[in-house]
Amino acid sequence: NGCPAFVRENLLTLMTVIGVVAGTLLGWGLRVSGYEWSRREVMYFQYPGELFLRMLKCLIVPLLVSSIVSAIGSLDLSLSGKVGLRAILYYMTTTICAVMLGIALVTTIKPGKDPEAFKQSNTTTTKIVTKDTLTSDTLLDLIRNVFPENIVQATIATYRTRLVYDSKDPRAIKGNLETYKIEGDYQSGSNVLGLVCFSIVLGITLGKMGEQSRPLQNFFHSLSEAMMIITGWVIWLSPLGVFFLVTAKIMEIESFSELVGRLGLYFMTVLLGLFLHGFGTLSILFILATKKLPCRYLAKMGQVMATAFGTASSSATMPITIGCCDDMGLDPRITRFVIPIGATINMDGTALYEAVAAIFIAQLRKVEMSFGKIVAVSVTATAASIGAAGIPQAGLVTMVMVLDTVNLPAEDVSIILAVDWLLDRFRTTINVVCDALGAIIVTSLSQGDIEKTRAHQNDREVAS
Ligand code: ASP
Repeated sequence: NGCPAFVRENLLTLMTVIGVVAGTLLGWGLRVSGYEWSRREVMYFQYPGELFLRMLKCLIVPLLVSSIVSAIGSLDLSLSGKVGLRAILYYMTTTICAVMLGIALVTTIKPGKDPEAFKQSNTTTTKIVTKDTLTSDTLLDLIRNVFPENIVQATIATYRTRLVYDSKDPRAIKGNLETYKIEGDYQSGSNVLGLVCFSIVLGITLGKMGEQSRPLQNFFHSLSEAMMIITGWVIWLSPLGVFFLVTAKIMEIESFSELVGRLGLYFMTVLLGLFLHGFGTLSILFILATKKLPCRYLAKMGQVMATAFGTASSSATMPITIGCCDDMGLDPRITRFVIPIGATINMDGTALYEAVAAIFIAQLRKVEMSFGKIVAVSVTATAASIGAAGIPQAGLVTMVMVLDTVNLPAEDVSIILAVDWLLDRFRTTINVVCDALGAIIVTSLSQGDIEKTRAHQNDREVAS
């Protein structure tokens, strides 16, 4: 009452955006206050945000599994096949467009054309510790994780290959990588890719089983609905959650000088790419596929964008993305199918950033980029974005693989570390926007099939 309808309808979104802005301002104010904040004090500031993040993360595994299983189980088999194919086609098209745009920008702008500026120290802040696994190891791990050997373990751990230095092997002592022992190890963090694959297979199976699958179908359907109700509660904490997360992040950053300094041009190249991809390429695809303008839909995604920016995690944002699609009135059987898969494998922002960063480092290192190398970067950047988990700065880890294709050492990742925390937030925002737009596109393209199936079912019911 007295409150404009727009504000009333978008109260939560507005509050979350205000949370991001206020967090930035407060964090900045606390930085320049002259007081030296200890890590412990920053942790206290972050604490409420951490609790919010934990609540969202807690929903990921049950929501992901139950949504995919119930959505696929409730769709006609041929329909789920068509929806799946359209989704995969959309994910691949947009990721490839993102990588190509990134490569075009980085080779035109050439942010790494001045290697002299990086001469003194090639690291900015902390050195990142990486293992010297080869591209082939990372690719093999990616595929291995699609097929988890234990589904319970997949909810908490992911398989990673390690190259272990064998102190007894004289060739290893000389640094010959080929002689390192290849070992496997489970590291903490859900194997979301494996869970997605298992859920798809289970969903298809339930869809085929007919009446016999009813109890399980009902179970997964209720579980996914229950998770969405909890999401509805947690979402109200997002303004406060992102406020504290952003405040603490701004406080803990060692220096902002790299944002406008040596890494400034690189930062702007990635940002420009993300902007052009999000509001250019994706909008054009959206118009072509749906014959509608995306502005109205993008405006409704404010909550999703603000949460993605605040949490830097597309997995943690997934429950909110599904909720947003529900609010837009999309068919839940489609959104609950394509959003969890998108949040796991479709990361356009990450793919674009991987390509730009690898070529930027290659420019600094004066590595000649032949056409073959550019193709290799495109392929590995795409794979790296598929393999990256939807958690903060996961792209930085999978980038080792892209660097390896241009013969650059894993340690070179540390060159871009100083600005990665901020780029991560922007690329995560584009990652989730792409997922949500994808859900609308796939729904619109599948409308005809859905109606046909419905008509079939009605005919069958009338006949029986
Ligand atoms: N933080 C990103 C995401 O969750 C992944 C990355 O690019 O680091 O989508």
